[in-house]
Amino acid sequence: MSELTPITVARGDGIGPEIMDATLRVLQAAGARIAPEFIEIGQQQYLAGHSSGIAPEAWDSLRRTKVFLKAPITTPQGGGFKSLNVTIRKTLGLYANVRPCVSYAPFVRTLHPQMNLVIVRENEEDLYAGIEHRQTDEVYQCLKLITRPGCEKIVRYAFEYARRHGRKKVTCMTKDNIMKMTDGLFHRVFDEIAPQYPEIETEHLIIDIGAARLATRPERFDVIVTPNLYGDILSDIAAELTGSVGLAPSANIGDHVAMFEAIHGSAPDIAGKGIANPSGLLLAAVMMLVHIGQPAVAETVHNAWLRTIEDGVHTAELHGSLSIGRPFGSMDFADAVIERLGQRPEQLAAVRYTQADARGAAPTAAIQVKVQRRAPAVKTLVGVDVFVHAADVNPDALAGQLCALATPSLALQMITNRGVKVWPAGFPETFCTDHWRCRFVAPQGQAVTHADIVGLLQALTAGGVDVIKTENLCTFDGERGYALGQGQ
Ligand code: ATP
Repeated sequence: MSELTPITVARGDGIGPEIMDATLRVLQAAGARIAPEFIEIGQQQYLAGHSSGIAPEAWDSLRRTKVFLKAPITTPQGGGFKSLNVTIRKTLGLYANVRPCVSYAPFVRTLHPQMNLVIVRENEEDLYAGIEHRQTDEVYQCLKLITRPGCEKIVRYAFEYARRHGRKKVTCMTKDNIMKMTDGLFHRVFDEIAPQYPEIETEHLIIDIGAARLATRPERFDVIVTPNLYGDILSDIAAELTGSVGLAPSANIGDHVAMFEAIHGSAPDIAGKGIANPSGLLLAAVMMLVHIGQPAVAETVHNAWLRTIEDGVHTAELHGSLSIGRPFGSMDFADAVIERLGQRPEQLAAVRYTQADARGAAPTAAIQVKVQRRAPAVKTLVGVDVFVHAADVNPDALAGQLCALATPSLALQMITNRGVKVWPAGFPETFCTDHWRCRFVAPQGQAVTHADIVGLLQALTAGGVDVIKTENLCTFDGERGYALGQGQ
């Protein structure tokens, strides 16, 4: 008998304690070699003054065990409370959100009985950095940050996940026809890494058509890898399509720590009644068992659970014509799964975590993704975008003012408003706000220095121009590091 693996467990709020107790009962009966350490998170912690819903000492357990099985929590109403999930993800570097979305037809009603896909969502970057500013009276901005190491980690994770779970295809979804630099990087990294997994089919879809196809033909997808915001939306669509949000698990994976949870919330409307479905959390625990190297137990529990569902043992929210008897409560459902440990489903597809897949790679340990940092590029400063707040001004007048104030080392090249070029040769029909992006470059293409930019800013501000911010224009190893504007 191998040693017990310590895991951190939070019973959470609402239905959390009921579904956690049911889940732990099944794990124990199945022989999971785990030693749970319980921590307090959620409502009580928020109300005790911990703004992220977690007490400082709870972090010690998470750092020690590096594995977190988490029940849903309730975030109190009102301001000042931060999302516990976002805090945990960012603090512990949980870069991959992995969400399997599977149909269990005919036992769970769905329009898409063949659906069996996994969404691998980048979890740390994109528009979720929380870097937002109001820049003018009319304009607000949110920074979208996409990094090469972030893309490499998530894309490689998706391929490793596919390989280890015997999945055949990885689809990348981005909007790089518009966001050529940020989403373009994600797509490029996908294309760079894909050839290292020749046994896996790959495709790229623009996110809008990709989402549409997911909604209408989810069975054509296997693994989907995508940046944070698209992944957030896609994974809710996909979970909904399976017919029951109550059955879906998710994992948040980092280099050091991983967190496993159901995708649903704390369901206060049914809390304390003992009727909640523990399946989402139980299937999250199955993912956890695979992660900590106990695939045999994971397989036993998952197959017993599938058999339970197809035997018609259903909690209230799934109860229907294929259900047996009265709706099962959370604990009775857990006991029904325990009775079936060692059995496999007869109609639903059984899972297989222990046997080697077609390529001989058994999924017995957590996926570790290593990113090679590149040598820095030769970076050359070639100009600056100066963002200006100016109300009730026409582009030609603004250009005249800027040209008159500009220093000899930097000349005004163009002005855009919300990305549309309005000078030179703008259209009078273009609607303009009070937010102008004014591009300055060296008149003869000569090198630009930071001092040149500071000099320009001094001249502009001294002339009464309200500069909001600047973005340096650089080349990296001779390659342009900025968009040309207007979606180019
Ligand atoms: P949150 O903002 O925390 O996600 P919510 O109320 O929007 O909360 P849920 O808590 O997921 O979302 O609940 C949505 C609905 O689904 C509720 O009617 C709830 O009773 C039901 N529900 C959620 N989880 C379960 C479950 N495990 N078993 C049965 N019903 C559930």
